Amino acid sequence: MIFDKSIKAFHEAQKHIPGGVNSPVRSFGSVGGNPPFIAKASGSKITDIDGNEYIDYVGSWGPMILGHAHPDVVKAIQETAALGASFGAPTELETEIAVLIKKLVPSIDMVRMVNSGTEATMSALRLARGYTGRNLVIKFEGCYHGHNDSFLIQAGSGALTFGTPNTPGVTPGTAHDTLIAQYNDLPSVERLFEDHKNEIAAVILEPITGNMGVIIPDQIFINGLRKLCDENKTVLIFDEVMTGFRIKKGCAQELLGITPDLTTFGKIIGGGLPVGAYGGKQEIMDMLAPKGPVYQAGTLSGNPLAMAAGITTLRLLDKTPDFYDNLENTSASLEEGLQNNMKELGFDGVINRVGSMFTLFFTKENSVKSFADVKKCDTTRFANYFKMSLQNGIYLAPSQYEAGFISAAHTKEDIQKTVEASYMAMKKLKE
Ligand SMILES: *Cc1c(COP(=O)(O)O)cnc(C)c1O
Repeated sequence: MIFDKSIKAFHEAQKHIPGGVNSPVRSFGSVGGNPPFIAKASGSKITDIDGNEYIDYVGSWGPMILGHAHPDVVKAIQETAALGASFGAPTELETEIAVLIKKLVPSIDMVRMVNSGTEATMSALRLARGYTGRNLVIKFEGCYHGHNDSFLIQAGSGALTFGTPNTPGVTPGTAHDTLIAQYNDLPSVERLFEDHKNEIAAVILEPITGNMGVIIPDQIFINGLRKLCDENKTVLIFDEVMTGFRIKKGCAQELLGITPDLTTFGKIIGGGLPVGAYGGKQEIMDMLAPKGPVYQAGTLSGNPLAMAAGITTLRLLDKTPDFYDNLENTSASLEEGLQNNMKELGFDGVINRVGSMFTLFFTKENSVKSFADVKKCDTTRFANYFKMSLQNGIYLAPSQYEAGFISAAHTKEDIQKTVEASYMAMKKLKE
């Protein structure tokens, strides 16, 4: 494959945009090399500006569950745009998407639209604090909730239970209000509740993680969190920005059988346009301005184009017969193919998959269940596998610590080609 135009484009972008990109992971920092600049996409394929075509397993990091440029979504955006892009005044589309989300996710009594997942989690945390009158939040190491100051926090050293900033620009004061626990480790959460009685406003987590790769919670862990939150009158927030409408029609909470107090959404609910949302129990949502005292606003919130794309996407997920079963079948066949490759070649690796979200961990361990497990992966090996895949026309997320996404547009042929390319790459890596 030739990447001349992308190399030139990246060089030019770096003169004007920090690192040449508008979100760090796009720069290929953790795998090396030059990111292809994208010209267009359709269905399961994306095409770069040099004309190389790839089978896409990034899907814009989750939103494109229908595949790229789905004709119904394109049409909805075009028709809505012709009526005006934004009014800063109420539209019926906003009620329509709220009704749809409520129908699909029973834990949602009320929902507020925002413009990104980051905004959704930031606002949900403020609401939980306003509702409980408490300051502290528990988050899990390895979970990502967008780039709010409150969540860019890592575990403090030694005996400290308070977090410390994991980027310059976050104040120690903010870090002090975030406590860090370990995923799939209930005692690590119990200890924090014991040390901070009546001080914890919220526990937030990815109910199935994608942002440290796919990790599935033990039922005992997730049930335990629900119980701890109930006992301590703490708001349980499921960050379903990635898992929402990805895992199941009723999201990860349906699969796990847990009712969170608040849920955050993003990605799929915008159909590829910038969107976030948060919602949940009536009593908590009633605290939001203008009904209640907790302030939150947005000039472009509920934007008609984003609502139209989101409504069209959610309707299709809802109405297409066997949508999630078909997605499961395609995804299972990819997993099976990769498992067979590894068995045949004696290649070390663990595949974690839930529905159409999967990660192939390059590890000698037998399972990956925690951030500590994730950190044992061979990222150099991943980087080499990634580069070979790209050369073979398979576009994977450029980091070991990410989920891959399969869309409804992925075909049997796509999967077969991917499994064959993967076999060749694994074989090379074994040599
Ligand atoms: C992507 C993501 C976010 C952030 O959403 P943005 O739209 O990128 O701000 C938050 N939480 C989770 C779980 C995500 O996957």
